[in-house]
Amino acid sequence: MDVYGELSRDKWEAICRKCAKCCYEKVDLGGGVIRYTDEPCEHLDTETKLCKVYDRRHEVEPDCISLTEHLVRFLHWMPVECAYVEYVRHKDTIAQVHEADKKQRRNRKAKRRR
Ligand code: SF4
Ligand code: SF4
Repeated sequence: MDVYGELSRDKWEAICRKCAKCCYEKVDLGGGVIRYTDEPCEHLDTETKLCKVYDRRHEVEPDCISLTEHLVRFLHWMPVECAYVEYVRHKDTIAQVHEADKKQRRNRKAKRRR
């Protein structure tokens, strides 16, 4: 498994809706509350909603990060509408359902053995 979870880099990148919501300045109001401002990153093309320096964004904008599944789980400032946030939540919910199902089956087997 790589940093993109079970997905290849291309598939991981394809999840992004290119909405650019994450490319606007944010203000941390404390207590886990983040307010997004109308101020776009200077490298964002607000017409196309695409980054003008995407391939070299880490060189020109050191604060810009490469999202990974792991990071999406821990970055509390990601917009709730972000496709990665939705993807990770969906994946975690499915994993929890599978885990609960496995636990139930184990319990049923244990009861039958008694
Ligand atoms: S550098 Fe590009 S990807 Fe990073 S925040 Fe700015 S516009 Fe978005
Ligand atoms: S908010 Fe999420 S879906 Fe939208 S551009 Fe950013 S990473 Fe992509």
